[in-house]
Amino acid sequence: MSPVLKLAPDVWRIRLPFHLELNHVNVHVLKTDLGFVLIDCGYGSDDAFQVLESGLAEIGIGWRDIARIFITHIHPDHAGNAERVQEATQAPIWMHEVEADYLPRFRSMVHEPERVSPWLLSWGVEPKTVAMMASVFRYTSGTYNPAPPEVRLKGGEDIGGWRIIWTPGHAPGHACLYRAATKTLISGDHVLEAISPNVAWMPDRDTLGSYIQALADVAPLGADLVLPSHGEPFQGLSNRCRALSGHHDLRCNNILAALDRGARTAQDLVVALWKNVLSPFQHRFALFEVMAHLVYMENKARVRCDRSSEVQIWTRSAHATLRADPGP
Ligand SMILES: [Zn+2]
Ligand SMILES: [Zn+2]
Repeated sequence: MSPVLKLAPDVWRIRLPFHLELNHVNVHVLKTDLGFVLIDCGYGSDDAFQVLESGLAEIGIGWRDIARIFITHIHPDHAGNAERVQEATQAPIWMHEVEADYLPRFRSMVHEPERVSPWLLSWGVEPKTVAMMASVFRYTSGTYNPAPPEVRLKGGEDIGGWRIIWTPGHAPGHACLYRAATKTLISGDHVLEAISPNVAWMPDRDTLGSYIQALADVAPLGADLVLPSHGEPFQGLSNRCRALSGHHDLRCNNILAALDRGARTAQDLVVALWKNVLSPFQHRFALFEVMAHLVYMENKARVRCDRSSEVQIWTRSAHATLRADPGP
């Protein structure tokens, strides 16, 4: 089956293989007055590189026809092959400046997953499980070869008729592209149709607060077509943004209810919220997601954290009430 889907006379999607649960990642090719722009590079594997090469050939271009590379964010499925793709194209990489600044730290966490272990231990995870998570995540480290950008963006810039929109949350420097002329949003991992994008805790940031604000920022665009990095093109951007916000409100409520039932740590909360057994991979994502919700609620004084001992203990603030589920 062809990896290429033509979405408009000047917009193509190429679906690249990705071995993890998501199974694929979509990259996009735009024909603009600046030349061809490649949006994201795919996972750092030989097969992803080869499918990208054959996808470009099917569009009728080669590596050297790519004039610019835009990276929505630096996660391995989007930027893992960037170094190799840049070598092949000789095109400059464009990226949001916050993502560029985050790149060295993120790369060291991918290559040395045990760097995350002290956080996991402070969230109440058993040392044996922490060690297992480090070994599972080390499996992907050899395939992560991103490249720093030549051009750092702030948001608001125009690339060949597409406006850059900074949408922090899923990643701190995540950015989408919007073309008002055709009301088309390239949403990266910010807004997906079938799944809720992972929003992970980061030190010294309220990642979920940023994410919910960035949903509110893109919802009024009135896009007729959303082109996500995972799944199919879809319509109904504002409804999907509202549903994603509602999903996080509901999760906050579920966390408060679990704290009432006796959960005390992020690990307790993962056990309370995810009834099925999680793989070490999913388990680590779930912990970071729960932590993002806890910090978001801590900023709103809905929960409190005692950080005086090795393991952080969370409690519900006396005045925190469960908010009504706003629905989808
Ligand atoms: Zn991502
Ligand atoms: Zn992704």
